[in-house]
Amino acid sequence: GSTIGIIGAGQLGRMLGVAAAQLGYRIHVFAPASGPACDVNNAFTAAAYDDEAALAEFAKSVDVVTYEFENIDAAPIARLVELVPVRPSAKALAIAQNRIEEKTFVENLGGRAAPWRAVNSREELDAAIAEIGCPAILKTVRFGYDGKGQARLASTGDADAAWDAIGGNPAILEGFVTFDHEFSIVLARGQDGAHVSYPPPLNGHEDGILARSTVPAPAEVASQWTEAAALAGRVADALDYVGVLTLEFFAGKDGPIFNEMAPRVHNSGHWTIEGAVTSQFENHIRAICGLPLGSTAVTGTRVEMENLIGEQARRWSDIIAEPEAHLHLYGKAEIRPGRKMGHVTRVWR
Ligand code: ATP
Ligand code: MG
Ligand code: MG
Repeated sequence: GSTIGIIGAGQLGRMLGVAAAQLGYRIHVFAPASGPACDVNNAFTAAAYDDEAALAEFAKSVDVVTYEFENIDAAPIARLVELVPVRPSAKALAIAQNRIEEKTFVENLGGRAAPWRAVNSREELDAAIAEIGCPAILKTVRFGYDGKGQARLASTGDADAAWDAIGGNPAILEGFVTFDHEFSIVLARGQDGAHVSYPPPLNGHEDGILARSTVPAPAEVASQWTEAAALAGRVADALDYVGVLTLEFFAGKDGPIFNEMAPRVHNSGHWTIEGAVTSQFENHIRAICGLPLGSTAVTGTRVEMENLIGEQARRWSDIIAEPEAHLHLYGKAEIRPGRKMGHVTRVWR
Protein backbone atom coordinates (compact mmCIF):
# COMPACT_ATOMS: atom_id res chain seq x y z
CA GLY A 1 0.00 0.00 0.00
CA SER A 2 0.98 3.62 -0.46
CA THR A 3 1.87 6.07 2.26
CA ILE A 4 0.29 9.51 2.29
CA GLY A 5 2.29 12.36 3.79
CA ILE A 6 0.26 15.01 5.59
CA ILE A 7 1.77 18.37 6.47
CA GLY A 8 0.22 19.68 9.66
CA ALA A 9 -0.98 17.93 12.79
CA GLY A 10 -4.24 19.67 13.56
CA GLN A 11 -7.72 18.19 13.53
CA LEU A 12 -7.95 18.37 9.73
CA GLY A 13 -4.88 16.16 9.37
CA ARG A 14 -6.22 13.83 12.00
CA MET A 15 -9.54 13.40 10.17
CA LEU A 16 -7.73 13.00 6.83
CA GLY A 17 -5.68 10.27 8.48
CA VAL A 18 -8.80 8.41 9.59
CA ALA A 19 -10.21 8.53 6.05
CA ALA A 20 -6.88 7.39 4.57
CA ALA A 21 -6.64 4.48 7.00
CA GLN A 22 -10.16 3.38 6.08
CA LEU A 23 -9.09 3.14 2.44
CA GLY A 24 -6.03 1.09 3.36
CA TYR A 25 -3.37 3.78 3.15
CA ARG A 26 -0.65 4.46 5.66
CA ILE A 27 -0.09 8.01 6.79
CA HIS A 28 2.97 9.92 7.88
CA VAL A 29 2.45 13.32 9.47
CA PHE A 30 4.94 16.16 9.24
CA ALA A 31 4.68 18.76 11.96
CA PRO A 32 6.95 20.91 14.07
CA ALA A 33 8.04 19.32 17.31
CA SER A 34 7.23 22.59 19.02
CA GLY A 35 3.51 22.09 18.95
CA PRO A 36 1.45 19.47 17.19
CA ALA A 37 -2.12 20.39 18.09
CA CYS A 38 -3.44 16.85 17.99
CA ASP A 39 -1.95 13.48 18.77
CA VAL A 40 -2.15 11.81 15.33
CA ASN A 41 -1.10 8.17 15.69
CA ASN A 42 2.11 9.41 17.31
CA ALA A 43 3.54 9.73 13.80
CA PHE A 44 5.58 12.90 13.74
CA THR A 45 8.70 14.06 12.04
CA ALA A 46 10.08 16.53 14.51
CA ALA A 47 10.98 19.71 12.68
CA ALA A 48 9.96 23.21 11.87
CA TYR A 49 7.75 23.54 8.77
CA ASP A 50 10.63 25.18 6.92
CA ASP A 51 13.27 22.60 7.94
CA GLU A 52 14.31 21.55 4.43
CA ALA A 53 16.50 18.65 5.52
CA ALA A 54 13.69 17.13 7.55
CA LEU A 55 11.24 17.73 4.68
CA ALA A 56 13.57 15.82 2.34
CA GLU A 57 13.64 12.89 4.80
CA PHE A 58 9.86 13.05 5.01
CA ALA A 59 9.53 13.09 1.21
CA LYS A 60 11.46 9.81 1.00
CA SER A 61 9.06 8.11 3.39
CA VAL A 62 5.85 8.89 1.46
CA ASP A 63 4.31 8.43 -2.02
CA VAL A 64 2.27 11.62 -2.16
CA VAL A 65 2.12 14.72 0.03
CA THR A 66 -0.89 16.80 0.95
CA TYR A 67 -1.42 19.49 3.58
CA GLU A 68 -4.03 20.34 6.15
CA PHE A 69 -2.39 23.60 7.03
CA GLU A 70 -1.73 26.29 4.45
CA ASN A 71 0.51 28.70 6.28
CA ILE A 72 3.77 27.16 5.12
CA ASP A 73 6.40 29.15 3.26
CA ALA A 74 6.65 28.63 -0.48
CA ALA A 75 10.37 27.77 -0.44
CA PRO A 76 10.21 24.46 1.48
CA ILE A 77 7.17 23.42 -0.56
CA ALA A 78 9.04 24.16 -3.80
CA ARG A 79 11.83 21.89 -2.53
CA LEU A 80 9.31 19.17 -1.64
CA VAL A 81 7.76 19.29 -5.13
CA GLU A 82 11.12 18.26 -6.60
CA LEU A 83 11.07 15.09 -4.51
CA VAL A 84 7.49 13.83 -4.38
CA PRO A 85 4.06 14.62 -5.89
CA VAL A 86 2.39 17.39 -3.86
CA ARG A 87 -1.39 17.68 -4.20
CA PRO A 88 -2.98 20.17 -4.42
CA SER A 89 -0.21 21.99 -6.28
CA ALA A 90 2.23 24.51 -4.85
CA LYS A 91 0.60 27.12 -7.10
CA ALA A 92 -2.82 26.57 -5.54
CA LEU A 93 -1.25 26.86 -2.11
CA ALA A 94 0.60 30.07 -2.99
CA ILE A 95 -2.56 31.74 -4.30
CA ALA A 96 -4.73 30.71 -1.37
CA GLN A 97 -2.12 31.94 1.12
CA ASN A 98 -2.35 35.46 -0.10
CA ARG A 99 -5.58 37.49 0.06
CA ILE A 100 -4.53 39.77 -2.79
CA GLU A 101 -3.68 36.88 -5.08
CA GLU A 102 -6.78 34.86 -4.26
CA LYS A 103 -9.16 37.77 -4.76
CA THR A 104 -7.47 38.76 -8.02
CA PHE A 105 -7.51 35.17 -9.26
CA VAL A 106 -11.18 34.67 -8.44
CA GLU A 107 -12.21 38.07 -9.82
CA ASN A 108 -10.45 37.24 -13.09
CA LEU A 109 -12.61 34.13 -13.33
CA GLY A 110 -15.80 36.16 -12.96
CA GLY A 111 -16.20 36.03 -9.18
CA ARG A 112 -17.33 39.08 -7.20
CA ALA A 113 -15.58 40.12 -3.99
CA ALA A 114 -16.18 42.99 -1.56
CA PRO A 115 -14.36 46.16 -2.68
CA TRP A 116 -10.76 45.95 -1.49
CA ARG A 117 -7.43 47.79 -1.62
CA ALA A 118 -3.89 46.70 -0.76
CA VAL A 119 -2.56 48.55 2.30
CA ASN A 120 1.18 48.61 2.95
CA SER A 121 1.52 51.64 5.18
CA ARG A 122 -0.47 53.83 7.55
CA GLU A 123 -0.80 56.43 4.74
CA GLU A 124 -2.15 53.81 2.34
CA LEU A 125 -4.73 52.89 4.96
CA ASP A 126 -6.06 56.46 4.92
CA ALA A 127 -6.16 56.41 1.11
CA ALA A 128 -8.00 53.06 1.12
CA ILE A 129 -10.55 54.32 3.68
CA ALA A 130 -11.15 57.38 1.51
CA GLU A 131 -11.94 55.11 -1.46
CA ILE A 132 -13.84 52.29 0.24
CA GLY A 133 -15.40 54.05 3.20
CA CYS A 134 -16.40 52.65 6.58
CA PRO A 135 -17.42 50.24 8.00
CA ALA A 136 -14.53 48.17 6.70
CA ILE A 137 -12.22 45.35 7.75
CA LEU A 138 -8.45 45.45 7.68
CA LYS A 139 -6.97 41.95 7.16
CA THR A 140 -3.38 40.80 6.97
CA VAL A 141 -2.55 39.56 3.48
CA ARG A 142 -1.12 36.32 4.87
CA PHE A 143 -1.45 33.98 7.85
CA GLY A 144 -4.88 34.95 9.20
CA TYR A 145 -7.36 32.36 10.46
CA ASP A 146 -10.37 32.23 12.80
CA GLY A 147 -10.61 36.03 12.52
CA LYS A 148 -7.03 36.51 13.77
CA GLY A 149 -5.04 39.14 11.91
CA GLN A 150 -8.15 41.30 11.36
CA ALA A 151 -9.44 44.56 12.71
CA ARG A 152 -12.80 46.17 12.10
CA LEU A 153 -13.18 49.89 11.45
CA ALA A 154 -16.56 51.36 12.33
CA SER A 155 -15.33 54.82 11.38
CA THR A 156 -12.21 56.68 10.21
CA GLY A 157 -11.30 57.25 13.86
CA ASP A 158 -10.52 53.52 14.22
CA ALA A 159 -7.68 53.64 11.67
CA ASP A 160 -4.79 53.98 14.15
CA ALA A 161 -6.08 51.18 16.36
CA ALA A 162 -6.71 48.89 13.39
CA TRP A 163 -3.25 49.49 11.93
CA ASP A 164 -1.69 48.75 15.35
CA ALA A 165 -3.87 45.66 15.83
CA ILE A 166 -2.55 43.99 12.69
CA GLY A 167 0.99 44.92 13.62
CA GLY A 168 1.65 47.02 10.54
CA ASN A 169 1.85 43.90 8.35
CA PRO A 170 0.97 43.97 4.64
CA ALA A 171 -2.82 44.07 4.61
CA ILE A 172 -5.94 44.67 2.60
CA LEU A 173 -8.84 46.89 3.49
CA GLU A 174 -12.17 45.31 2.61
CA GLY A 175 -15.53 47.01 2.49
CA PHE A 176 -17.95 45.58 5.07
CA VAL A 177 -20.54 43.45 3.31
CA THR A 178 -24.10 43.48 4.63
CA PHE A 179 -25.46 40.01 4.32
CA ASP A 180 -27.94 37.76 6.08
CA HIS A 181 -26.20 34.47 5.35
CA GLU A 182 -22.76 32.98 4.85
CA PHE A 183 -22.11 29.72 3.05
CA SER A 184 -19.33 27.72 1.50
CA ILE A 185 -18.72 25.50 -1.47
CA VAL A 186 -16.64 22.41 -0.70
CA LEU A 187 -15.56 20.88 -3.98
CA ALA A 188 -13.38 17.90 -4.80
CA ARG A 189 -11.54 17.62 -8.11
CA GLY A 190 -9.89 14.39 -9.23
CA GLN A 191 -6.75 13.81 -11.24
CA ASP A 192 -8.91 13.22 -14.33
CA GLY A 193 -10.47 16.69 -13.93
CA ALA A 194 -13.86 15.38 -12.75
CA HIS A 195 -15.37 17.34 -9.90
CA VAL A 196 -18.09 16.95 -7.31
CA SER A 197 -19.34 19.44 -4.75
CA TYR A 198 -21.44 19.22 -1.62
CA PRO A 199 -24.67 21.06 -1.02
CA PRO A 200 -23.65 24.39 0.56
CA PRO A 201 -24.10 24.63 4.31
CA LEU A 202 -25.31 27.77 6.04
CA ASN A 203 -22.33 28.86 8.13
CA GLY A 204 -22.82 30.77 11.37
CA HIS A 205 -19.84 32.58 12.89
CA GLU A 206 -19.35 33.85 16.43
CA ASP A 207 -16.42 36.16 17.21
CA GLY A 208 -14.95 35.48 13.74
CA ILE A 209 -14.90 31.70 14.35
CA LEU A 210 -17.19 29.21 12.65
CA ALA A 211 -19.80 28.13 15.22
CA ARG A 212 -22.09 25.92 13.14
CA SER A 213 -22.87 24.66 9.65
CA THR A 214 -26.38 23.54 8.70
CA VAL A 215 -27.65 21.58 5.69
CA PRO A 216 -29.90 22.19 3.88
CA ALA A 217 -29.24 25.92 3.86
CA PRO A 218 -32.20 28.33 3.56
CA ALA A 219 -33.59 29.29 0.17
CA GLU A 220 -31.54 32.52 0.04
CA VAL A 221 -28.41 30.37 -0.02
CA ALA A 222 -29.74 27.47 -2.08
CA SER A 223 -30.65 29.92 -4.86
CA GLN A 224 -26.96 30.95 -5.09
CA TRP A 225 -25.63 27.41 -5.07
CA THR A 226 -25.36 26.95 -8.85
CA GLU A 227 -23.50 30.21 -9.46
CA ALA A 228 -21.13 29.71 -6.53
CA ALA A 229 -20.40 26.07 -7.39
CA ALA A 230 -19.75 27.00 -11.02
CA LEU A 231 -17.23 29.62 -9.88
CA ALA A 232 -15.54 27.09 -7.57
CA GLY A 233 -15.35 24.68 -10.51
CA ARG A 234 -13.69 27.34 -12.70
CA VAL A 235 -11.17 28.09 -9.94
CA ALA A 236 -10.38 24.38 -9.56
CA ASP A 237 -10.03 23.89 -13.32
CA ALA A 238 -7.85 26.98 -13.76
CA LEU A 239 -5.47 25.64 -11.10
CA ASP A 240 -5.64 22.06 -12.43
CA TYR A 241 -6.51 21.43 -8.81
CA VAL A 242 -6.38 17.96 -7.24
CA GLY A 243 -8.10 17.46 -3.89
CA VAL A 244 -10.71 19.34 -1.88
CA LEU A 245 -11.01 23.10 -2.39
CA THR A 246 -13.24 25.38 -0.34
CA LEU A 247 -14.62 28.78 -1.24
CA GLU A 248 -16.37 30.92 1.38
CA PHE A 249 -19.18 33.24 0.31
CA PHE A 250 -21.57 35.84 1.64
CA ALA A 251 -25.08 35.53 0.22
CA GLY A 252 -25.41 39.07 -1.14
CA LYS A 253 -28.61 40.66 -2.44
CA ASP A 254 -27.44 40.26 -6.03
CA GLY A 255 -25.70 36.91 -5.75
CA PRO A 256 -22.73 35.26 -4.09
CA ILE A 257 -19.89 37.48 -2.86
CA PHE A 258 -16.57 35.64 -2.64
CA ASN A 259 -14.79 35.99 0.71
CA GLU A 260 -11.79 33.66 0.66
CA MET A 261 -10.65 30.22 -0.34
CA ALA A 262 -8.86 27.40 1.42
CA PRO A 263 -6.77 24.86 -0.55
CA ARG A 264 -7.92 22.03 1.70
CA VAL A 265 -10.70 20.33 3.58
CA HIS A 266 -12.63 22.85 5.63
CA ASN A 267 -14.37 23.18 8.98
CA SER A 268 -17.65 23.92 7.17
CA GLY A 269 -17.34 20.45 5.58
CA HIS A 270 -17.09 18.45 8.81
CA TRP A 271 -20.81 17.67 8.58
CA THR A 272 -20.04 15.44 5.59
CA ILE A 273 -18.43 12.76 7.78
CA GLU A 274 -21.82 11.46 8.89
CA GLY A 275 -24.08 13.74 6.82
CA ALA A 276 -22.93 12.82 3.31
CA VAL A 277 -22.40 9.50 1.53
CA THR A 278 -18.68 10.27 1.07
CA SER A 279 -16.98 12.68 3.46
CA GLN A 280 -14.83 15.63 2.36
CA PHE A 281 -11.86 13.82 3.93
CA GLU A 282 -12.43 10.62 1.96
CA ASN A 283 -12.94 12.57 -1.27
CA HIS A 284 -9.69 14.45 -0.67
CA ILE A 285 -7.83 11.17 -0.15
CA ARG A 286 -9.52 9.65 -3.20
CA ALA A 287 -8.52 12.66 -5.33
CA ILE A 288 -4.86 12.82 -4.32
CA CYS A 289 -4.54 9.03 -4.76
CA GLY A 290 -6.11 9.04 -8.22
CA LEU A 291 -9.27 7.16 -7.22
CA PRO A 292 -12.75 8.03 -8.51
CA LEU A 293 -14.63 10.54 -6.36
CA GLY A 294 -17.55 9.47 -4.19
CA SER A 295 -21.15 10.66 -3.92
CA THR A 296 -21.77 13.95 -2.12
CA ALA A 297 -25.46 13.18 -1.48
CA VAL A 298 -26.82 14.09 1.97
CA THR A 299 -27.73 11.16 4.23
CA GLY A 300 -30.42 12.89 6.31
CA THR A 301 -33.26 15.38 6.04
CA ARG A 302 -31.27 17.83 8.15
CA VAL A 303 -27.65 17.90 9.29
CA GLU A 304 -26.05 20.30 11.76
CA MET A 305 -22.39 20.52 12.71
CA GLU A 306 -21.61 22.45 15.88
CA ASN A 307 -18.06 23.36 16.83
CA LEU A 308 -16.98 22.79 20.42
CA ILE A 309 -14.80 25.80 21.13
CA GLY A 310 -12.81 26.27 24.32
CA GLU A 311 -14.83 25.40 27.42
CA GLN A 312 -17.74 24.13 25.28
CA ALA A 313 -15.80 20.89 24.96
CA ARG A 314 -16.75 20.11 28.56
CA ARG A 315 -20.29 19.42 27.31
CA TRP A 316 -19.09 16.26 25.60
CA SER A 317 -20.52 13.87 28.19
CA ASP A 318 -24.05 15.26 27.65
CA ILE A 319 -23.65 15.33 23.88
CA ILE A 320 -22.54 11.73 23.64
CA ALA A 321 -25.84 10.67 25.22
CA GLU A 322 -27.92 12.28 22.43
CA PRO A 323 -29.17 9.67 19.95
CA GLU A 324 -28.57 11.74 16.80
CA ALA A 325 -25.21 13.19 17.86
CA HIS A 326 -21.84 12.13 16.50
CA LEU A 327 -19.15 13.46 18.81
CA HIS A 328 -15.62 14.26 17.65
CA LEU A 329 -12.90 15.30 20.09
CA TYR A 330 -9.55 16.34 18.64
CA GLY A 331 -7.29 15.12 21.44
CA LYS A 332 -5.81 18.55 22.19
CA ALA A 333 -4.01 18.56 25.51
CA GLU A 334 -5.18 21.93 26.71
CA ILE A 335 -8.43 23.90 26.53
CA ARG A 336 -7.85 27.52 25.47
CA PRO A 337 -10.41 30.25 24.74
CA GLY A 338 -11.25 30.26 21.02
CA ARG A 339 -9.52 26.93 20.41
CA LYS A 340 -11.39 24.33 18.37
CA MET A 341 -11.48 21.31 20.71
CA GLY A 342 -13.97 19.15 18.85
CA HIS A 343 -17.29 19.19 17.04
CA VAL A 344 -20.60 17.40 17.05
CA THR A 345 -22.70 16.50 14.02
CA ARG A 346 -26.39 15.81 14.43
CA VAL A 347 -28.10 13.99 11.59
CA TRP A 348 -31.90 13.80 11.50
CA ARG A 349 -32.99 11.00 9.20
P1 ATP B 1 -11.04 31.38 8.50
O1 ATP B 1 -10.87 30.74 9.85
O2 ATP B 1 -12.37 31.10 7.85
O3 ATP B 1 -9.87 31.19 7.58
P2 ATP B 1 -10.22 34.17 8.50
O4 ATP B 1 -9.51 34.58 9.72
O5 ATP B 1 -9.45 33.91 7.26
O6 ATP B 1 -11.16 32.94 8.83
P3 ATP B 1 -12.37 35.62 7.14
O7 ATP B 1 -13.03 34.41 6.63
O8 ATP B 1 -11.80 36.58 6.16
O9 ATP B 1 -11.27 35.30 8.26
O10 ATP B 1 -13.38 36.44 8.08
C1 ATP B 1 -13.96 35.82 9.22
C2 ATP B 1 -15.43 36.19 9.29
O11 ATP B 1 -15.57 37.61 9.43
C3 ATP B 1 -16.20 35.87 8.02
O12 ATP B 1 -16.61 34.52 7.96
C4 ATP B 1 -17.36 36.86 8.14
O13 ATP B 1 -18.31 36.41 9.09
C5 ATP B 1 -16.66 38.10 8.68
N1 ATP B 1 -16.19 38.93 7.56
C6 ATP B 1 -15.01 38.83 6.94
N2 ATP B 1 -14.89 39.73 5.93
C7 ATP B 1 -16.03 40.42 5.92
C8 ATP B 1 -16.54 41.50 5.11
N3 ATP B 1 -15.82 42.05 4.13
N4 ATP B 1 -17.79 41.97 5.39
C9 ATP B 1 -18.53 41.42 6.39
N5 ATP B 1 -18.11 40.41 7.18
C10 ATP B 1 -16.88 39.91 6.96
MG1 MG C 1 -9.16 32.25 6.13
MG1 MG D 1 -12.90 32.49 6.51
